[in-house]
Amino acid sequence: MISIAKPLIGNEEKEAVAEVLDSGMIACGNVVTEFEKEFAAYLGVDHCIASTSGTTALEVGLRALGIGKGDYVITTPFSFIASTNCIVYTGATPIFADIDPKTFCIDPVEIEKTVEAHPEAKALLIVHLFGQVCDMDAIMDIVDRHHLLLIEDCAQAHGAEWKGRKAGTFGNVGCFSFYPTKNMTTSEGGAVVTNDPEIAKNCRMLINHGMEVRYYHDEIGYNYRMTNICGAIGRCQLKKLDGFNAARRAHAAALSCLINNPLVTVPYVPEESNHCFHQYTVKVAAGKRDAFIAHLQANGIGFGIFYPLSIPEQKCYEPFGFNKQWERTDEVKEQVVSLPVHPGLSDEEIAEVARAVNTFKGEA
Ligand SMILES: *Cc1c(COP(=O)(O)O)cnc(C)c1O
Repeated sequence: MISIAKPLIGNEEKEAVAEVLDSGMIACGNVVTEFEKEFAAYLGVDHCIASTSGTTALEVGLRALGIGKGDYVITTPFSFIASTNCIVYTGATPIFADIDPKTFCIDPVEIEKTVEAHPEAKALLIVHLFGQVCDMDAIMDIVDRHHLLLIEDCAQAHGAEWKGRKAGTFGNVGCFSFYPTKNMTTSEGGAVVTNDPEIAKNCRMLINHGMEVRYYHDEIGYNYRMTNICGAIGRCQLKKLDGFNAARRAHAAALSCLINNPLVTVPYVPEESNHCFHQYTVKVAAGKRDAFIAHLQANGIGFGIFYPLSIPEQKCYEPFGFNKQWERTDEVKEQVVSLPVHPGLSDEEIAEVARAVNTFKGEA
């Protein structure tokens, strides 16, 4: 069985965690501070605030920008639920704009139409889905003209680039997840990055009970602090991130070269984008996906369906009465299958994935 994801934890991580455990300083402390500095330096941003997850990083990022009740935030209907939940947590209202079916990311043309229909929108939350960076030329132009705040959900885009500039460095904030299946991990964990010292200060307060001076709570915050144990794993993983991404890109390039099946469309990557292949997501011809995944299963190939439903049609959002019809998302969600691409795979395993795809003839 070739698995769809596998965190790569080596002796470095084990030794670094043991060192933290032996130190007795196992909560948030200097190891997290070092991780934050190194992650900020990696991206080329001024500030990084580590948190407990990508979800809490997004929530804190939005709140630090002053987004809350009465505000409207434009976002994509095709993502992991957290990218919309975080808007709802703040009391703000999500407004969806459909995707570009080629890139899977929010379509700038749709954003523009949505802003025109909703001039009250205060912010735009984009998701660099599967490691594909959104069209940042078009998006920065929209954000500038309409004075929108920009939040980048980079939970799947560590080290991905648009014209050589890293995802997470375009927005007012960039929010990362370090969940085990992501391009790098801290076990559970997340981070907000920004170049704005005021926003950074707000984030720092929010993750630590709204406290700057000990036991003086200026606002109602949370305990979203990363632990030194997680920070230690993160420091080791960050050193390996470029290598991990190089392996993912090489696997993706090999798959796209080897896969030759008229029923299967390989990922599209615009030339401006340095995709980091959190997922290698193909599209299967209409009506053929169930047979395709049965064929993968029969051949011992792991896979994922990211995502089977659009966000607005999720049961948890029923009370919100969102429009559930998103033409392109609805088409794509029926076609997508993500294939193994993680850095732990060998060239032989990648060849085996491609072989299994190529022997699919439309029936299980
Ligand atoms: C993983 C993920 C998140 C949430 O991160 P967690 O660390 O699991 O909370 C948010 N957005 C996207 C697009 C994700 O893939």
